[in-house]
Amino acid sequence: MLVVLEKGTTEEGVLAIVRIIEKRGYTARPIPGGDRVSIGILHNKGSVDAAHFLGLDGVKEVIPVTKPYKLVSREFQRDNTQIKIGDAVFGNGTMPVIAGPCAVESLEQVLTIARSVKNAGAMLFRGGAFKPRTSPYSFQGLGEQGLKFLAKVREETGLPVVTEVLDVENFDLVEAHVDVIQIGTRNMQNFSLLRRAGRSKRPVILKRGMSAMLQEWLMAAEYIMEEGNSQVILCERGIRTFVRHSRNTLDLSVVPAAKKETHLPIIVDPSHAAGVRDQVIPLAYASAALGADGQMIEVHNKPEEALSDGAQSLYPDQFEAVMKKMNAIRAIIGTE
Ligand code: PEP
Ligand code: MN
Repeated sequence: MLVVLEKGTTEEGVLAIVRIIEKRGYTARPIPGGDRVSIGILHNKGSVDAAHFLGLDGVKEVIPVTKPYKLVSREFQRDNTQIKIGDAVFGNGTMPVIAGPCAVESLEQVLTIARSVKNAGAMLFRGGAFKPRTSPYSFQGLGEQGLKFLAKVREETGLPVVTEVLDVENFDLVEAHVDVIQIGTRNMQNFSLLRRAGRSKRPVILKRGMSAMLQEWLMAAEYIMEEGNSQVILCERGIRTFVRHSRNTLDLSVVPAAKKETHLPIIVDPSHAAGVRDQVIPLAYASAALGADGQMIEVHNKPEEALSDGAQSLYPDQFEAVMKKMNAIRAIIGTE
């Protein structure tokens, strides 16, 4: 249930209604909107009687919420959530690009790539320090050393850094070194990890599980928001289908579908969807044309020597050309 307040309700007015809701044993969560505040009622078992709140001073209307997710839904918050990270804003109609290698391999490697992607217009740097690999014998990442290299990239280039956290065990460590926490496709329904991310002050990029429906994905985001972290960025990265011509199938249709259901920004990762660089490029253009709120693209200075995902990593000069063309596409498409 959503209690919509009159325009201009004072802070004390909001608090008074929050107290009344809590007195009935529910959780009240104020949601600031464009021109008025609403209060979401959470933790109700069964339906809530609208009549309890309709006559209260400052209450404009009471709307029952029919969706299983609440905090992430457009019913709860009409306006897009905007998430500012460094100079980038996700959710305001622009398309910040996060670029970098799949894995952090050495300080020299990350610094070289970071300088070139920054020059090409990337606004955030990515690199995995803890890698979720299909095989336990594959390179697992540099761990803490990798996090230190990422912190150095931020120091040297000013780019905020993004990395994946694999488990609750290493959360504090990852959180202490990077600006944005990524939860990977294999962990989308790791509920204890989602809850821990919800208690973080850092923005979270939540990748779609490789076989997750939109509803399940939004429910995963709800776990994070329910713990108090409203800075969630959804990332479509390709889903598992029957095809063999690409690593995954980029589900571009989920972008407009998600935008209808949720106010959270949604970005696209064409790299993990495609698996090979020749397919990454046209998918990046399509994502730009689609109005994605951002993109995540893997770039490597020596992809043939990469310790993971070399085949899908763009060469720096390719990335630069892609960025130019994407800017031209966005200029035509406009910013909604
Ligand atoms: C990654 O971004 O490096 C990664 C492992 O992504 P995903 O979780 O989408 O496979
Ligand atoms: Mn990768």
